Amino acid sequence: MTPPPETPSPVVELADGRAARRGLRLFLKRDDLVHPELPGNKWRKLRHNIGPARDHGTLLTFGGAYSNHIRAVASAGRVYGFATIGVIRGEEHLPLNATLAHARRMGMRLAYMDRATYRRKHEPDVVGALRERWGDFHLLPEGGSNAPAVRGCAELGAEVPGFDVVCVPCGTGGTLAGLAAGLAPRQRAVGFSVLKGGFMTGEVERLQRETYGGRRGDWSVEDGFHFGGYARSTPELEAFAADFAGRHGIVLDRIYTAKMMFGVLALAGRGAFPEGARVLAVITG
Ligand SMILES: *Cc1c(COP(=O)(O)O)cnc(C)c1O
Repeated sequence: MTPPPETPSPVVELADGRAARRGLRLFLKRDDLVHPELPGNKWRKLRHNIGPARDHGTLLTFGGAYSNHIRAVASAGRVYGFATIGVIRGEEHLPLNATLAHARRMGMRLAYMDRATYRRKHEPDVVGALRERWGDFHLLPEGGSNAPAVRGCAELGAEVPGFDVVCVPCGTGGTLAGLAAGLAPRQRAVGFSVLKGGFMTGEVERLQRETYGGRRGDWSVEDGFHFGGYARSTPELEAFAADFAGRHGIVLDRIYTAKMMFGVLALAGRGAFPEGARVLAVITG
């Protein structure tokens, strides 16, 4: 069986003239290396949901057909020995795509939900119908962000002493909510939203309230680097990621980490970080 993930993940310094010219030192935390099947923040967010999943025997969660969260939950079920159910938005398409085929191989049971019902998936009548069909389960919301997930991401904050600014991409905002809460005084966190709409700050506040009862840590969200929205890209982002791979030998994923890295270097170029700052960007997956 695949061994469980290992933290802390390594930190490497990045020699990049765009940061050096501004008097900054730039580092990457390679959370993508903690486990081949459970990379980075997906592992951190699942870690404290494993106990409840085992207690119930089954974990049920939601996602789109290409969801990394579905993939990670299926792998976690296999590694930690609990059953998994993935409720997938929309209709079944055969043959299964790579994400869902992997989930099936890991033993996940797949159920499909029409889009209208899916929009109401967290409402009591929909959850009640799922319990009737599947029996007892630990429910994890779409994207995996709940209070145990936020607490798992706070452990990321505790792994990065000595950095002035710590940067992460934001999908649901759970990673930023936990990271910010786990940092020491005088450290701050910056999240880069990969979604359009300007609602990320409210989501992070909601998750911190749910977990800790109120706002924690020094953090902010950048809403200007979504490149058109979730899973959208532009020629500028593509060129940036290709150039980054050429300079540093690291392939950034286009959905999350390329947008964050573009944003980090753009902020550096604008002088948004104080001279001499040690800036850490978390490669979340
Ligand atoms: C899922 C994911 C995120 C989003 O994290 P949230 O906690 O939902 O904000 C960020 N980066 C990567 C690589 C991911 O797979």
